[in-house]
Amino acid sequence: MQLQGKVALVTGAASGIGKAIATTYARAGAAVAIADLDLAAAQAVAAELAAAGGQALGVAMDVGSEEAVENGTRQVVERFGALDILVSNAGIQIVSPIVDFRFEDWRKIQAIHLDGAFLTTRAALRHMYPGKRGGVVIYMGSVHSHEASRLKSAYVAAKHGMLGLCRALAKEGAEYNVRSHMICPGFVRTPLVDKQIPEQAATLGLSEEEVIKKVMLGATVDGEFTTVDDIARTALFLAAFPSAALTGQSINVSHGWSMK
Ligand code: NAD
Repeated sequence: MQLQGKVALVTGAASGIGKAIATTYARAGAAVAIADLDLAAAQAVAAELAAAGGQALGVAMDVGSEEAVENGTRQVVERFGALDILVSNAGIQIVSPIVDFRFEDWRKIQAIHLDGAFLTTRAALRHMYPGKRGGVVIYMGSVHSHEASRLKSAYVAAKHGMLGLCRALAKEGAEYNVRSHMICPGFVRTPLVDKQIPEQAATLGLSEEEVIKKVMLGATVDGEFTTVDDIARTALFLAAFPSAALTGQSINVSHGWSMK
């Protein structure tokens, strides 16, 4: 029960990595807000967690919308009385060569990842700073916060940008007892990745098997996917760590794909 008495808000928590983190946090004793574009799915996750004895709330939130982030965060604080942990996790992927990248797709990626990280951080800090109450903000980066891949220019740029925000927050937040971190997963089999396999196969002229073996896992030490549980355990460790000895860090959880 490492998070007993804490309140966590996890964005994009109706699916994949966010859902696993929300579940792990609830098991560790936190009251958890499941914030997602898909309210019905968020409420279903909250109901699952409540049925297992946890405290959970489904919240509608488009992280790229200032109004939606402000409203959603207010609902969480009204319900649970505080906000101690933010996991800025919601994300999408759109793959295309740079030369053909549609501007609206580029902007969509930046809006969800970069604007979303900023807007959720700002809303959370307004509850963490007063009285130097403090808190932890965890950004879901990617190995693509440190490395680049073909076809993913918008995502690589956004994930690098989020690392800058994470580091700036570590400096600004310190006097208010706010710490920040970024988790950088390798490939994790979630709906986000399942969608990319046939898309990359078509664009690169490879079979789906080759995309998995060569493109996705070729640079790992053991050819293995990272799991949602690997990421959730890391998110629990970072949220529960007691001091600013750890702040402003990015941790690769990627079977050795990136060691930066
Ligand atoms: P996923 O598709 O399983 O889940 C993403 C969730 O985000 C969905 O529930 C979706 O409804 C929600 N979402 C999308 N747009 C939103 C918005 N505007 N506002 C609020 N919610 C929104 O994806 P995932 O693989 O679990 O990805 C989660 C995060 O992990 C993303 O930031 C992604 O970039 C990052 N990541 C994933 C992998 C991977 O291999 N799966 C690797 C590195 C990083």
